[in-house]
Amino acid sequence: MNTYARLPVVFERGEGAWLWDTEGRRYLDALAGIAVCGVGHSHPKLTAVLREQVGKLVHTSNLYGIALQERLADRLAAMAGMESIFFCNSGCEANEAAIKLARYYGHQKGIESPAIVVLEKAFHGRTIATLSATGSRKVQAGFEPLVAGFVRVPFDDLPAVKRAADINRNVVAVLVELIQGEAGINVCHDGYLNGLRQICDAQGWLLMLDEVQSGTGRTGRWFAYQHSAVKPDVVTLAKGLANGIPIGACLAAGPAARLFKPGSHGSTFGGNPLACAAALSTLEIIEEENLMQNAVEIGECMRSGFAARLAGVEGVKEIRGMGLMIGIELTLPCGDLVAQALAKGLLINVTGDNVVRLLPPLNFSREEADLVLDTLTPLICGFLAAALRQPAARSA
Ligand code: PLP
Repeated sequence: MNTYARLPVVFERGEGAWLWDTEGRRYLDALAGIAVCGVGHSHPKLTAVLREQVGKLVHTSNLYGIALQERLADRLAAMAGMESIFFCNSGCEANEAAIKLARYYGHQKGIESPAIVVLEKAFHGRTIATLSATGSRKVQAGFEPLVAGFVRVPFDDLPAVKRAADINRNVVAVLVELIQGEAGINVCHDGYLNGLRQICDAQGWLLMLDEVQSGTGRTGRWFAYQHSAVKPDVVTLAKGLANGIPIGACLAAGPAARLFKPGSHGSTFGGNPLACAAALSTLEIIEEENLMQNAVEIGECMRSGFAARLAGVEGVKEIRGMGLMIGIELTLPCGDLVAQALAKGLLINVTGDNVVRLLPPLNFSREEADLVLDTLTPLICGFLAAALRQPAARSA
């Protein structure tokens, strides 16, 4: 179906942070399949693991024990400080599991119409429930009626969450991205997570974090919440977890960990041997190659590099992010930059209309980072100079 406005390029092969198209042209990938290929394309160790697993066993179903799924669950539980895990195939499915957990939790407390606090501009997926949780009319329009049971509050606004608690006695959970990816790399303030934890504890709500984009090492820790001491009740993962082999996971601790019984939820493909072997190998590589530290260093170098080169440039509003989640906000829509960068052999993304988003592989090198700076800076400056010359753009 005609669901994507695709760029006019087809890739045939990849290696590390580089992709080659069908014409043999080489591109630097500063997007990594939208925060998916954290260890880069065709990582030799992961490739070997995948080859071996494909030759051994791909799928059996969740009717039977799956040793690799158990190993991955133990690994993730230890990394995240969580107790039990449900495996699925994507981010929206991981969030569906979280939404179901919250509702189940509410019903167990005798709340017949449980509600979940969600944030403005959030992105949680495109299934009917997750697009209802998403804070974007663009994603929702035309798909009404939306699923009920979501209470929306502004991003990074603790008093608004408190007011939601006062107004709506049916609230059972909050579902939050600590760094909003699709909305334009919006980072919540330092005390926000701690404040949310306090509200959740006081109200008996589940603190549920959508780490689909920010998880698996991208911000320099396994999960963005680990930059603080706060422990959530539910965490959702997907994207970078298996470097491109589809997988999603919903992790739970405390009461949420023990809610589901056989029959409460399920997935045919979820956590099959191939996906779990891919995830275990991806996590091992991130650890062995010290890629979270690299994400911190290269992310810092790219943000400070852009800050220095774009200082004083009219039309540049803010450069922000954490680790290798980088956003450059301009004062006007800049979608055209994507095609301009592509023409220069660089893959980037523009989200929230006016934010250049960079999500390179976690093993991005200093030279590759410099190449992004060298290529993108003049493109941004040229784009802004031309756009700001037009009176209509000035007032936009
Ligand atoms: N949650 C967040 C924070 C995301 O960024 C995304 C995808 O961009 C999703 C959920 C949905 O994930 P998927 O596309 O795998 O369903």
